[in-house]
Amino acid sequence: MLIVLKPNVSQEEIDHIVDKIRSLSLEPHVSTGVQRTIITVIGDEDVIREQPLEALAGVESVKSILKPFKLVSSETQPDRSIIRVNGVEIGGKNIVIVAGPCSVEGEREVIEHAQMVRESGAHIFRAGAFKPRTSPYSFQGFGVQGLKFLAKAKAETGLPVVTEVMDPRDVGVVAEHVDILQIGTRNMQNFNLLKEVGKIDKPVLLKRGMSATVNEFLMSAEYILSKGNRKVVLCPRGIRTFEDITRNTLDAGVVPVIKALSHLPVLCDPSHAMGLKDYVPAAAYAFVAAGADGVMVEAHPRPEDAHSDGQQTIDGPTLIAMIDRIRKIARALDRDLR
Ligand code: PEP
Ligand code: MN
Repeated sequence: MLIVLKPNVSQEEIDHIVDKIRSLSLEPHVSTGVQRTIITVIGDEDVIREQPLEALAGVESVKSILKPFKLVSSETQPDRSIIRVNGVEIGGKNIVIVAGPCSVEGEREVIEHAQMVRESGAHIFRAGAFKPRTSPYSFQGFGVQGLKFLAKAKAETGLPVVTEVMDPRDVGVVAEHVDILQIGTRNMQNFNLLKEVGKIDKPVLLKRGMSATVNEFLMSAEYILSKGNRKVVLCPRGIRTFEDITRNTLDAGVVPVIKALSHLPVLCDPSHAMGLKDYVPAAAYAFVAAGADGVMVEAHPRPEDAHSDGQQTIDGPTLIAMIDRIRKIARALDRDLR
């Protein structure tokens, strides 16, 4: 249920409404927008329906939320969410570029890679310390030691860092070392992991499951918001279809759909969508043209030496040229890339 408050509602009235909702064992989530304050009420729909909430002072209207995802829905928050991380705004006017290798490859290496990313003009550094590999015999990542290397790379370059967390037990240690926690495609419906990242106060980059529908994707984001963490960024990254000429099928078409259905920012991954480096820039342009707030690409000074996903990893000059072209696309769309 959605309680829309009057424009001139007082803080005492808001507090009274919140107390009333809690007294019914329901959960109030207050969103203060530019125009209006809205309270989303989560809980037993029957209990909510029986309450004459319209009668409370400060309430303008009470509506049902039609979508199964409530806190994620643009119905409950008309203003778009902007997520701030170390001075970078995800979901604002500026297109955000995240770049870096698939994996953390060592201390010296990760610092070199982060320096290349900073020099390219990208805003956020990526690299995986815990790697979800299809084969148990493939390189599994540096784990906690890799997190320490990432913290050093951040200290050296000043770039905020995103890395994947695969296990609910690692959420604390990952959050201690990096700025954004990534949930990978294989874990999009690992509900225990989603609940755990829902309890922290750091942004979460939630990748779309490779076979997940848009509704399932948004319900996974709802798990995180329902635990209190509203700093979620949605990440389309290609889906599995009958087509096997590319690693996945580019799901640029979902960008305007999820931006209509949800207020959350959208940052897309063209590298895992295409799986081949020559196609990554074009896929990045398509995502940005479709309305993405940014892209995350795998980049490495020597892609042929990368510990994982070298075939889809672009080099430094390609990253620079790609960013330049994305800037032109951004400006054509009344956005920018600075
Ligand atoms: C990654 O970004 O390194 C990764 C493993 O991505 P995905 O979960 O989308 O496959
Ligand atoms: Mn990868």
